[in-house]
Amino acid sequence: MPDRPPRLADVALPLPLPDPLTYEIPAAWDAQAQPGMRARVLIGRRRLVGLIVDIHERRPEGVNLRPLVEILDREPVVPKDLLELARFTADYYMAPLGEVVRSMLPADLPPWGDRKVWLTDAGALSLPRGASEAAVIEALREGGRMTVAELQSRVGALPDLDAVLATLAEGGRVNTAEHRARSARYINAVELAPGEVADHLAKAGRSVAGREVINYLAALGRPATTAEVTAAIECTPAVVRRLVSLGVLRQFTQVERLSLDRHMMGAPGKRPEIHLREDQAFALDRLTAVVEAGQFAPLLLQGMTGSGKTEVYLRAAEEALARGRSTILLVPEIALVPALARAVELRFGDNLAILHSGMGVGERHQEWERVRRGEARVVLGPRSALFAPVADLGLIVVDEEQDSSYKQELSPRYNARDLALVRARDAGAAALLVSATPSLESRYNAERGKLDLLRLTERAGQGTLPEGILVDLREEGVSRRPGEIHFSERLRHEIRQALADGDQVILLRNRRGYSPMLLCRACGEDMRCEDCGLPRTYHRRDRRLVCHYCGSMLPAPKVCPNCKEEALEAIGAGTERVEEDFKELFPEVSVDVLDRDTARRPGGPAAVLERFDRGEIQVLIGTQMVSKGHHFPNVALTAVLAADAYLSFPDFRAVERTYNLLVQVAGRAGRGERPGRVVIQTYHPDHYAIQAALRGDDEGFAREELHFRRVFHYPPYTRMVQLLVRDKNRDRAWKLISDLAADLAAHPFARSVRLSGPAPAPLERLRGEWRFQLLARSADGRGLHRMLKEVLPKNPGYDLVIDVDPQQLL
Ligand code: ADP
Ligand code: ZN
Repeated sequence: MPDRPPRLADVALPLPLPDPLTYEIPAAWDAQAQPGMRARVLIGRRRLVGLIVDIHERRPEGVNLRPLVEILDREPVVPKDLLELARFTADYYMAPLGEVVRSMLPADLPPWGDRKVWLTDAGALSLPRGASEAAVIEALREGGRMTVAELQSRVGALPDLDAVLATLAEGGRVNTAEHRARSARYINAVELAPGEVADHLAKAGRSVAGREVINYLAALGRPATTAEVTAAIECTPAVVRRLVSLGVLRQFTQVERLSLDRHMMGAPGKRPEIHLREDQAFALDRLTAVVEAGQFAPLLLQGMTGSGKTEVYLRAAEEALARGRSTILLVPEIALVPALARAVELRFGDNLAILHSGMGVGERHQEWERVRRGEARVVLGPRSALFAPVADLGLIVVDEEQDSSYKQELSPRYNARDLALVRARDAGAAALLVSATPSLESRYNAERGKLDLLRLTERAGQGTLPEGILVDLREEGVSRRPGEIHFSERLRHEIRQALADGDQVILLRNRRGYSPMLLCRACGEDMRCEDCGLPRTYHRRDRRLVCHYCGSMLPAPKVCPNCKEEALEAIGAGTERVEEDFKELFPEVSVDVLDRDTARRPGGPAAVLERFDRGEIQVLIGTQMVSKGHHFPNVALTAVLAADAYLSFPDFRAVERTYNLLVQVAGRAGRGERPGRVVIQTYHPDHYAIQAALRGDDEGFAREELHFRRVFHYPPYTRMVQLLVRDKNRDRAWKLISDLAADLAAHPFARSVRLSGPAPAPLERLRGEWRFQLLARSADGRGLHRMLKEVLPKNPGYDLVIDVDPQQLL
């Protein structure tokens, strides 16, 4: 063999390193190495697993490269298209490639060598072809079930072990199990022996049950577990055993597929017979056409809750599947998976794969492998399911696309909604964003023709929209004690009424009260920053009002600068008292709370929701968690206790979130037969978000909100990047962020970029660290990206967070 220098592999490691590291590929691994495979390497003295992202011969000069230790896979675990997506993600979100790749793969994916392999009955009896096969069969006959690594050590240096195993597996002579052996169960399965069914029936003779088993398997057209057969025919295992001994059936062991039932809500059943309305049929036709065309198509499906959006996209997935193309269905949260999973399973059966981090390790690997092998073609999960290794992608659905949970708040800070469009584009697939209240980004893109808008206009089923009741808190009088403000006269009346009718009540409160604002209880003035258009945050200790976007400060006034009343109050905090106040007002009523704290109690949020569903709780007090995706037919009254706590949150998306919340809340009440009521308490009854939500004027809201975004230069009119420095030492943190600001301002592109700050982050101190931020915005997204790439240090040596398209500025 000519002595050529070893090839090199760039390995992306799950570390905050800007670039992959280069290793030599030892001769023993050279034939097998491919990009997309995992490799074990040494960093210092540590052994780490990374992903080979490139193989090349560009040897850097004057550097001593180390060899990689071993390669863990025989086939790429990250296929080419996903590797491309990873590169795009790393570049766009300015995140290390290794961290991107890590979030694409299920955790602890076992190395190839950990797979179990064993002989089937057929394999044990078969005659080996060639010396390698003989060695493998011999080793398996002696040793029974073992890992590939063990087999390898038994048969010694067999250069073609992989090929031999592949041939044996194809011929049904060995079985392998890919997922974690620890959770695997091996079960007996049977299939019809080769030959005519008529001959099998003849061999079965007069046994009625035996003939039924044969007919059943012939109709099924696939192997079945022994348990499945005996259950279907209602016969004893002896019947099956007899057929095996007659040579009619072949028996073998297979790895039991772990049931996904515990990840689904409701009972198995039949899919409902639904006749599509005209608007649904129109949307479906459009979707079918784009899937048929096999070209990238970005679409937005808008329709109020209950208008039948889910029905439309599930049918679109069926149309895709009928054309041999896969679908990825994304939901914002793991908690929303179970409800949808059953509906998907009713249509797609074994074609459904569920992927999320709340599953067991074995389940996750099983599902991931089923997707990779093309056995499951409809994948359901939260944002990370976007990276499922599906082939022949035809459709990606992003349900509740406006939800900020699609954004990952740790590096890589990607938004799965936005990457869905990128993946669909590269795959020639349709990307369908779905929402009752689309994000402003998506509305804007639909307006500009970048998203094809499909609208559902009617509400399916019986439910009618609830009656909206607006309570102007300014009229409640400024003299009342703050606690009482949770329950206006009108609200108390409505609660009494609902309870008297035996109905249930949901009260929404806001827990994000960590940075109080100063609000005038007489006129609703909330002290906005003139430049940023957002309320300033009240700092009680030094009695100052601070804008957390640009950092400008004012001394806190004593009287309201607008109406001159002495009615200024720090609100936003203190809502913990809602439950206490409620109990005081309604001591007889059973009440419970659903928020992040109760979510940690045994049983989690599901336990509370179930008790509410069963009617054991009459009144449920909760955060937004309550308003998402649940259906309680007995809820006649929903109240938003302080809409301003949402509306005046110092975030440019606060108004959008308030509107979405109010629309959702309106969708909660009155989904049963009776119309419901929604009470909204606010100091800003004329605010366009509140008015639009009450009137159902969705376009009016979009118009006003887009106007606000344009005037104050917020997305979607600009691209925004948040730069955040964290440090234990306040002065050091301030100096670092100020230096960064100066460097950015000196860049030639700075003229087209709006820099706000440095300013304290809304959470100025967190876990003992000081946090300061800079916001960079530009209508020229590419220019901004280039400027940041050029100015920001590659290896900062301090804690710098770069958040591209931030969702939560905390
Ligand atoms: P959305 O996703 O817009 O909230 P769904 O698709 O979940 O709405 O539909 C709400 C309910 O209405 C579901 O129970 C669904 O089965 C039913 N539904 C949907 N479309 C129709 C229709 N055309 N006729 C009758 N019922 C429908
Ligand atoms: Zn400001």
